[in-house]
Amino acid sequence: MMNTTDVLRRTGMLLGLGLAAIGCAEGVSDSDESAAELSLEVDEVDEVVANMLAAGYPESEIEITEDDQVIVGGDAVVTLEASREIAGVGADPSMGFRQYRTNNVVNVGLICINGAAFNGAMSDGLDIAISRFNQQGLDFDIIRTGGWNPACDAMIQANVIDGTGGSAGFPSGGLPYGTINVGDDTINFGMGALVHLILHEIGHCIGFRHTDYYNRSISCNTGGNEGSGAVGANHIHNTPTTAVMHGSIMNSCYPPSSPGEWTSSDITALQELYGGSFCDQYDGQTIALRTAHNRYVRAGDSGEAWGLNQQNFVGPWERFTVVCDSAQVSLLTAHNRWVRAGDSHVQLDQQSFSGPWEQLTPIPQKDGSWAFSTDHNYSFLRAGNDGEGWRVNQQTFVGAWEKFTVVPQ
Ligand SMILES: [Zn+2]
Repeated sequence: MMNTTDVLRRTGMLLGLGLAAIGCAEGVSDSDESAAELSLEVDEVDEVVANMLAAGYPESEIEITEDDQVIVGGDAVVTLEASREIAGVGADPSMGFRQYRTNNVVNVGLICINGAAFNGAMSDGLDIAISRFNQQGLDFDIIRTGGWNPACDAMIQANVIDGTGGSAGFPSGGLPYGTINVGDDTINFGMGALVHLILHEIGHCIGFRHTDYYNRSISCNTGGNEGSGAVGANHIHNTPTTAVMHGSIMNSCYPPSSPGEWTSSDITALQELYGGSFCDQYDGQTIALRTAHNRYVRAGDSGEAWGLNQQNFVGPWERFTVVCDSAQVSLLTAHNRWVRAGDSHVQLDQQSFSGPWEQLTPIPQKDGSWAFSTDHNYSFLRAGNDGEGWRVNQQTFVGAWEKFTVVPQ
């Protein structure tokens, strides 16, 4: 990711073919910087390129840096091992990047990021980005270290580079890619942009491709298709099939005005790949949701226009049937309706069918409770008590009122 005004420093050539001119009209384009310590032998470079071509990446999206690293999509380094997995060479063909839809890309419990090189605002940005991952209650935790720590299952080295771009790589062997490079001028756009860039590069390390990989101009105003091929890029269940500007932290380019927060579809993608086990525990079951006020979410039918509020006991109207579609959840009410989170932050209600607004993404909380992300960016279910009655509406962050304890019925 890089700002358009930056000069592309990437040089080199791909098997005698021209380089892709990857730039960006707004915000970030992809980086040309490369991690120094992972250079490949010449014949290994050839194999990586051959593997990526076999996997369906177009030649225009495969680049070789001066220090013999192979980069796809502008900012993602592909190691020899990763290229073999992507191409299905010498590995179970169901692995590689098919893991987008099936197995976890990264299979570790604790990822350590060595942030010793990050100082000042860069350090703050790294801390915020790490907290945004951990707030999702994923299968792995990320901690920051100043070096190797025996508790770490995997290590990512965070490097500071010049400019407003970044780079990282794809995982292999169940381990995240081991390096992120983050431009030190990104902070000039604001902390949101810096956090966005760090989230993005860590996102590559755990297996995310660009959300708009099929048309980089969606976020960059220029560029084409990075290529998907036979096994290159698998759609993540329940996420949109079309990318939009500002729609994802994993878009190819970032807007300088980015708030540096996950979007609702990013949260769905994270939960689909690495989320907790809400559906394993509750799919098909009847539950009640206890609020921070020791009340229960109620789906009424009492002249309240199918509203939702809170009741101090559990009766039929406080019971919901959980219906899972992969990691997304719909809640069926006693009236055969579905809990709906509309596109305003007002009261939730009930709908007679289940569409995107009726699908919630459960996010496990450290205390065992659950938050529920709605279809609307930055919104979560809230059970309030703010002088407006016992409302159930939506909030832009997860605090005490956005946490619900699941009570099986
Ligand atoms: Zn990228």
